Amino acid sequence: MIHTRYKMLFSWPVFILLVSIVPAYAAEQSTPKNIILLIGDGMGIAQITAGKIVKGQLNLEEFKHLGLLTTHSQSALITDSAAAGTALATGYKTNNKAISVSADGKPLKSIIEYAKEVNKATGLVVSSSITHATPAVFAAHIDSRKKHSIIAEQISRSGIDVLFGGGRGYFIPHTKPGSKREDDKNLLAELAEFTTVIQTEEEFNRLGQVDSVVGLFADKHLPGADKRNPGLPGMTEKAIEILSKNKNGFFLMVEGSQIDWAGHDNNQDDIITEVIDFDNTIGVALNFAKKNPQTLLVVTADHETGGFAIHNGSIADKVVSESGFTWTHHTAEMVPVFAYGPGASDFTGIGDNTRIGKLLIKYLQAARQ
Ligand SMILES: [Zn+2]
Repeated sequence: MIHTRYKMLFSWPVFILLVSIVPAYAAEQSTPKNIILLIGDGMGIAQITAGKIVKGQLNLEEFKHLGLLTTHSQSALITDSAAAGTALATGYKTNNKAISVSADGKPLKSIIEYAKEVNKATGLVVSSSITHATPAVFAAHIDSRKKHSIIAEQISRSGIDVLFGGGRGYFIPHTKPGSKREDDKNLLAELAEFTTVIQTEEEFNRLGQVDSVVGLFADKHLPGADKRNPGLPGMTEKAIEILSKNKNGFFLMVEGSQIDWAGHDNNQDDIITEVIDFDNTIGVALNFAKKNPQTLLVVTADHETGGFAIHNGSIADKVVSESGFTWTHHTAEMVPVFAYGPGASDFTGIGDNTRIGKLLIKYLQAARQ
C-alpha cells in the first residue's frame, strides 16, 4: 500500500506541477546573484509622470513592487546627493556633503566594498563626472563632495571593474589640457597599468573582450541626453556585458545624473529628455534581468528637485504644455522606489532611504554564507 501511495505522490502530473512552481517561488524569495541599482538624481513622481506623458509606455511600468522613501539627511530635512547617496550606498544617515563617512567622520562601508568581499564584479555608470556625489559615495570616503581630486584618487584605487562617465580632468596632471587637478598626478596613466582606459566614442565602440575598463568621455560632465555619445543606455549595456562574465555575479550602480540639473534649471523639456533616457536605460537592465532571473533591479531617486508639478498637457498628443516649479533646489518629498526580481517584495511600503543600502548589503552578506 505504502509503495503505491509513494507512486501516486511522485506521479508525473505532480512532479511537473512542482518543477513549474518551485523556480518561480525561488526567484521571488532567493538572494539575488546580480544587483543593478539605478538612481534617477532628482527624479520625483512628477518627473516620472512627465516622462510617461511624452513617452507613452515606460519600462518602469513593468516593475510590480513599489514603495516610497523619506530622504532627509542627518543634518537637514532637505538632503543633498551626497547624504542621500550615502544612505543608499551604506544604509546610514550622514550630514549633507559627506561622502560615505558618518557625521563624526568615520568611513561607512559601501555596497561596492561588500560586493568585492564576496568576489562579485562591480561597476559605476553615470552621465556626470565619475567624481560627482552619487558615484563617489560608492567608491570613496571623504568629508566633502567638493574634494574631487581626492575622490578621483580614491576611485582609482577602488578596484571597481567598470567605470563609465565624465570627469577625466580630475585624473590627469595639471599640465595637460582639460585638467582640473592642481598637482602632477596622472591617475589615468596609473590606471592604464592594470585596466583598459578609453576616452572617446570611437574607443568605446571598438572595445573588445575585457574584464575591466575605465571610460572617461569628458573633462567634467557628459553632455545632455540628446548629445552624449556613448549614451547612458549604451554604457549600461556594455557594463552589464563585461560584469556578467563574473561567475559570482555583480553589483552595478547606474545614475541618470542630469534629471537633477534640469530640475535646478527649472527646465521642463530637459527633465523629460533625461527621464526618457533614464527609462531607456532601465529597459536595458530589464532585458538582462528577464534573461537572467537571479538579477534584482532597484530604481529610485536620491531626492526630488525643483518642486516640479504638471499643470496642463495631453495624453493623446504626448505633450506637457504647462508646468511649474516651487523653487530651484531639492525638496523633502518622498521619492518612489521600484524593484524587480528576487527580493523585490522587500521594497514595498513606506520606508527611509537607508532601507535600500541595508537591504542590498543584507543580500550581499547572505551571499557570503
Ligand atoms: Zn541637485
